[in-house]
Amino acid sequence: MYINDVKLSPLLVSEPSQSYQSGITVNRWVEVLVDCPGSTGLFTYRLPAQLEIKPGDILSVPFGAQQLGAIAIRLLAQPNVDLPPEKIREVEDIVSVGFFPSAYWELLNRVAAYYYTPLIQVIRVALPPGLLGRSQRRIRLVGGRGAGGREQGAGSRELGAGGSSYLLASSDPLAFLTPTARQVWELLQTQPTGDYSFVYLQQKVKSAYRGIRELLRFGLVESYLEPPRLTRPKLQKAVTLTGTIDHELTTRQREILEVLRRHNGELWQNELLQICNASSSILKTLTQKGYIVIEEREVLRREQGPALAQDQPKSLNTAQASALETIQTLDGFAEVLLHGVTGSGKTEVYLQAIAPLLNQGKSALVLVPEIGLTPQLTDRFRARFGNKVSVYHSALSDGERYDTWRQMLTGEPQVVIGTRSAVFAPLPNLGLIILDEEHDSSFKQDSPIPTYHARTVAQWRAELENCPLVLGSATPSLESWVRVGRQGAGVAGEQGEQGGRGAGGQGDRGAEGEFITHNSSLLTPNSSLNTHYLSLPERINSRPLPPVEIVDMRQELQQGNRSIFSRSLQEALQELQERKQQGILFIHRRGHSTFVSCRSCGYVLECPYCDVSLAYHHTEEKAPELLRCHYCNYARSHPKFCPDCSSPYLKFFGSGTQRVTQELARQFPELRLIRFDSDTTRNKGSHRTLLTQFANGEADLLVGTQMLTKGLDLPQVTLVGVVAADGLLNLSDYRASERAFQTLTQVAGRAGRGDDPGRVIVQTYTTEHQVIAAVRSHDYHSFSQAELEQRQALNYPPYGRLILLRLSSLDPIQVQNTAQIIATTLSTEEEIEVLGPAPASILRVANRYRWQILIKFAPDALPQLPDWEEVRSLCPSSVSLTIDVDPLNIM
Ligand code: ADP
Ligand code: ZN
Ligand code: ZN
Repeated sequence: MYINDVKLSPLLVSEPSQSYQSGITVNRWVEVLVDCPGSTGLFTYRLPAQLEIKPGDILSVPFGAQQLGAIAIRLLAQPNVDLPPEKIREVEDIVSVGFFPSAYWELLNRVAAYYYTPLIQVIRVALPPGLLGRSQRRIRLVGGRGAGGREQGAGSRELGAGGSSYLLASSDPLAFLTPTARQVWELLQTQPTGDYSFVYLQQKVKSAYRGIRELLRFGLVESYLEPPRLTRPKLQKAVTLTGTIDHELTTRQREILEVLRRHNGELWQNELLQICNASSSILKTLTQKGYIVIEEREVLRREQGPALAQDQPKSLNTAQASALETIQTLDGFAEVLLHGVTGSGKTEVYLQAIAPLLNQGKSALVLVPEIGLTPQLTDRFRARFGNKVSVYHSALSDGERYDTWRQMLTGEPQVVIGTRSAVFAPLPNLGLIILDEEHDSSFKQDSPIPTYHARTVAQWRAELENCPLVLGSATPSLESWVRVGRQGAGVAGEQGEQGGRGAGGQGDRGAEGEFITHNSSLLTPNSSLNTHYLSLPERINSRPLPPVEIVDMRQELQQGNRSIFSRSLQEALQELQERKQQGILFIHRRGHSTFVSCRSCGYVLECPYCDVSLAYHHTEEKAPELLRCHYCNYARSHPKFCPDCSSPYLKFFGSGTQRVTQELARQFPELRLIRFDSDTTRNKGSHRTLLTQFANGEADLLVGTQMLTKGLDLPQVTLVGVVAADGLLNLSDYRASERAFQTLTQVAGRAGRGDDPGRVIVQTYTTEHQVIAAVRSHDYHSFSQAELEQRQALNYPPYGRLILLRLSSLDPIQVQNTAQIIATTLSTEEEIEVLGPAPASILRVANRYRWQILIKFAPDALPQLPDWEEVRSLCPSSVSLTIDVDPLNIM
């Protein structure tokens, strides 16, 4: 059994003892950051004598009429506010101690400064949801209602019906109470638990606090602080064997104790009862006889993967071995780009780099684009490292997330695999950070603030923790390519030592007891000089990369093929069936939404709140046909008649996954399909289920969107088809080409990973596009070179850096005017170039009108606004303004 009894921070918040008699009060003060939207400054509180508070502790403080979460920033000998000391309120309690080692704290401060975000909002991203939730002051009857109830001698009466054991001689037990106290008392009696929140009592009883004070004085009630729901650990009854099994016991009783003994003397009660098929009464007897002890223990809620066979390290090929060797010789901070073609065995390198660290008592952090999409990767880690692996992502329940987070704090060597926000995983002794598929845009948060990029934060973190950072990809982002890569090289295992100075991460940590440090010189994400380029240029076992065939759909049409599948793809699908192999069909949804329009009058059904057409959804045969807005989630049923001209000829267009699957069912009725997109993977665990079905050969074809591109290693897949590449190619964004190249190369990389050779068919109406040519020849180098030349010419990243200001309002005129004023003000600054203001590519979303301003900075300059506060002040309250530093989506 797995009973966790690591000493964690005191999570059950205990009531500070109410001491009226204590004579000496040491006046100490603390400045805290309060978790309240809109409050950004520090607040000063008095430290109660009995609390030992340190900077970095999570506290509960009174704030206005509320109890809020807060973080202790620094201790003060004297209050530094203009208030009489007696007016300064006291810290209520400590919720959790010492979560923020100084390097971690500095990281949070850097994120706050770089992304123009109040520190408390950064902390909220870093902590599991609800940790800073509101504690609640509650009042309960002493002894609880119904707890006492023993008969007493003559003349005495119990208080309340079956209630407290507090007894009085008088005929009216409440006679000595004031009416207010009595009202509170009676109210508490109405609750089965004799327990109400302070706030509730105050609502129900006028001046309740006076009555409560009185009841407290008589010891009739007690007041306690209920921690936020999440911070309550999950408790479960555990049974421990204490006596020796002797013969005075019945056979049945001995049986139960035997089971316990076989499990090293400990089991959860529910497990024990289940194994023995017994009821709890028999345990009660054994407890009374002193053979066992039953007590509540904490259970850690963690996501459990399926049971996996233990897997052994593979013997590495030359390129892998050389890459591993470099990584293992790194001492302290360094940045490594592991550039390996799809199927070259990057994951095996990660696994073998991590193994020795765990033995040294260190931990590793592995960041992946979207965990729901990569159960495969998690399984590979679990097969190697067993329960040392935990996953951390937003699809976990809050309880699982909270407990996984606390498990990290124990400092035991472990591997945490997580998505973007896991870059803040509070692992002490961090020995290595890995970003797999580092080019993936889901590492960037578009909103809300901080609009951080996990790669940037990981660079800072590695530097501050003085550990290596490995960026892995088959298609590195141009940022990483320029920073760490070897432009034009690409020799197996080549190591570029571009200067040897490790930044060391020993920034100015500030004076003792002080937690905020400002060190803007550390803000540059380009501060690293210790970089290594490692290349895995071949697939495992020298398997070839799959040949990529480009099909010109214009010619197909000219030659009379009106199907969405080219003849080539049709033949390939036919072959797939005959050879009993598997395939993947990729559909790029964006730009090909399945809108519904009227064939009689051309009317297009649009979202009433956004300037976009509604997408057609039809999940299964008998389900209702729905039209849904992909921006605000508005949904309506499919109308029978055109709302404009009443024509019955409403039809949907486009080639979303549904359209494609319907077409497949028509042309290839025998082909078994699995749809893998946001509609079919909505439920927890559905990614895994669908992929397992596919891996077990329960389907011939996996049909889906972007999700298919990420990290799938399915050896049976021989065919990859891209239905229409054009949606990817024609996005109006300076990154469109890079993204298209990455996506297409990654999708293509799913083919031919096993023994059977693969093939890729890409359908497009623009065969002449440079991205198409590069994908065909698997040529990252010439693609990136051409692309970088264009970026440099226009001063786009990775050369000139960007900040995007997004404005939105219900009022179309006001938002436009505000955007204009801000843009004009910014234009007067030197060193920056202001583009816009321009309406966002979809002007209205959820009834809000959206404008944006793009700010370009000189090459090698940091994206830093001259005066953000001034910009903010130009924005009226009816217009919301957010800042996106290093934006990826400029649409
Ligand atoms: P990548 O992450 O680079 O796309 P993977 O790590 O998924 O590649 O490796 C592709 C396949 O090759 C996986 O099934 C993996 O188990 C296997 N593999 C990796 N390294 C080796 C090796 N040294 N020997 C044999 N098989 C390997
Ligand atoms: Zn019509
Ligand atoms: Zn909408």
